[in-house]
Amino acid sequence: MTDPLSLMLAERAHVLADGATGTALLNMGLQDREPAELWNDTQPGKVARLHRDAIEAGSDLFLTNSFGANESRLRLHGLSGRVRELNLKAAQIARAEADRAGRPVIVAGSMGPIGEIMAPMGSLTHARAVEMFHEQAEALKEGGADILWVETLSALEELRAAAEAARLVGMAWCGSLSFDTAGRTIMGVTPGQLSSAVEALRNPPVAYGANCGIGASDLLRTVASFVASGNERPIIAKGNAGVPHLSCGNIHYDGTPELMADYACLARDMGVRVIGGCCGTMPEHLRAMREALETRPPGPRPTLESITALLGAFSSAGSDRDNALTIGRR
Ligand SMILES: [Zn+2]
Repeated sequence: MTDPLSLMLAERAHVLADGATGTALLNMGLQDREPAELWNDTQPGKVARLHRDAIEAGSDLFLTNSFGANESRLRLHGLSGRVRELNLKAAQIARAEADRAGRPVIVAGSMGPIGEIMAPMGSLTHARAVEMFHEQAEALKEGGADILWVETLSALEELRAAAEAARLVGMAWCGSLSFDTAGRTIMGVTPGQLSSAVEALRNPPVAYGANCGIGASDLLRTVASFVASGNERPIIAKGNAGVPHLSCGNIHYDGTPELMADYACLARDMGVRVIGGCCGTMPEHLRAMREALETRPPGPRPTLESITALLGAFSSAGSDRDNALTIGRR
């Protein structure tokens, strides 16, 4: 238990993670079809600013700009030969910003989905997925990432491949799925299935959870299922700042800083240890989350009703009975 996140979690009740990468870089001028990871080479100053903004807003942990920097996804942009370089640069830019924060800040090496469907449903084999994650992980480690951060996955097979890659490079890792399809991932995984699956891994993650998906409200319903599973491993909640709306050709998220502050405190009161945001979560949201976590006293464990009262209605009826109907009874 010597990885920086385990050490930080041993010292404090919760860790504030960062917010959106994509939304923030689009705001800085990233073009729609341009791979964000290319900016590690062409616009390192803007990537550094993204990290600095998160640190200054109070994040204790932030993700590198390497979400889509695996061979398969980079190939779509004709960049498949640059996996090592773009991940290395992502980690180096992040490391430099963390090191000058003046307080402990963890660099989490982001690895998103490979972008292909895994066997047995698709043609991507476990071995090939491990190979691609491994290549990415190796460069993130070399560039100075403290831990690996596997996020927005939808299949447990892919999570297992990422876990294997983390083992091969000897790094602690965190894993998070996106439950964006009526309470399940697009591949049909329920929160309860994820809770069980992480414990069956040879090298379980330091923390596991949910990111992205629909809105902050749905994300906390997913968390309720994690809690109800009885798994005591630290939980991650990185919800979107509200729900996306298209306006003037741009995507805007309707979640206010106040809403995200409520979300952060609800997450804390549900027992979440790593609290952050995903799409639409900007520094002003993080700042409000940090302030609320520090100034509002812990409350009773929220019920599903108290979640919707503060954050809005759920977008669907939910995954199934593995939703935590018992959560309000304590
Ligand atoms: Zn997101």
